[in-house]
Amino acid sequence: MVGSVPVGGDAPVSVQSMTTTVTADVNATLQQIAELTASGCQIVRVAVPSQDDADALPIIARKSQIPVIADIHFQPKYVFAAIEAGCAAVRVNPGNIKKFDDKVGEIAKAASDHGVPIRIGVNAGSLDPRLLQKYGKATPEALVESALWECSLFEEHGFRDIKISVKHNDPVVMINAYRLLAEQCDYPLHLGVTEAGPAFQGTIKSAVAFGALLAEGIGDTIRVSLSAPPVEEVKVGTQILESLGLRERGLEIVSCPSCGRAQVDVYTLAERVQAGLEGLKVPLRVAVMGCVVNGPGEAREADLGVASGNGKGQIFVKGEVIKTVPESQIVETLIEEALRMAEEMGVD
Ligand code: SF4
Repeated sequence: MVGSVPVGGDAPVSVQSMTTTVTADVNATLQQIAELTASGCQIVRVAVPSQDDADALPIIARKSQIPVIADIHFQPKYVFAAIEAGCAAVRVNPGNIKKFDDKVGEIAKAASDHGVPIRIGVNAGSLDPRLLQKYGKATPEALVESALWECSLFEEHGFRDIKISVKHNDPVVMINAYRLLAEQCDYPLHLGVTEAGPAFQGTIKSAVAFGALLAEGIGDTIRVSLSAPPVEEVKVGTQILESLGLRERGLEIVSCPSCGRAQVDVYTLAERVQAGLEGLKVPLRVAVMGCVVNGPGEAREADLGVASGNGKGQIFVKGEVIKTVPESQIVETLIEEALRMAEEMGVD
């Protein structure tokens, strides 16, 4: 359990993200956590590189609506502070702590006493120099050996409330690392492609890697890493889970790519419908089709849809044509119908 969120076993795969604010700036951090929560984030991680950040943890942990994980490198004193502060979990690599100040046993005891799980997060960029020398680079084997060695440092003290990540910026290496890890241990796994890049590239890399692993049943919680505001990470993560059928689909726009047969501007139509329905939290499939070839068929399959042609749009609801409207009224009619259907489902 990460606070109230189960991770591992049969629990649904959860979406997490990380704040980009200075953690010590409590108001800014809580504001960002609120935005993340509203976008569907289930677990949030905050960086704790200084004493000021550690001092901010009690109020952040108390006021956040979702479980807060403290992300700590090197400094055992911040780990104890995070546990005392009521953080739901701590991300720490005991190998780093052992190198500087061997307090692994004390951390295991404090975490165990407070029921706080630990994430061991191995990253290609910060791989143990010993393993880097042994393998030559951050191979899947090196990442897995590093993670299992880090786990063993806690296991020596009887601590097993652990989840693991083995992140790499190359989805192929990352996929192989997690497959190997899943074969070799039973701990819950936190999936991530690290430093995945700007939004477009990072979205594709994460979708490919998470898709491959989650389809094989590997992965218990996900964090999409984008060089973009964290809310975007949550939207992408949620969409990945919905696409894989691991989470109930919300609003889904089924629109055709358009072609030489299109009798309306499908791109603009689809964008306007999407924008008009943004934020509607309801499982609704809306088809926006450019012509009568696949249009009526897709529009019938969807909850709501339009098949366009000859300057008009046939509006379908649950497979039935309910009306035909001029092209200029397609968007407003679809939005009106979607809102009516949402209301019938009891959603504001
Ligand atoms: Fe082309 Fe019509 Fe298919 Fe859209 S629905 S891609 S316009 S054939």
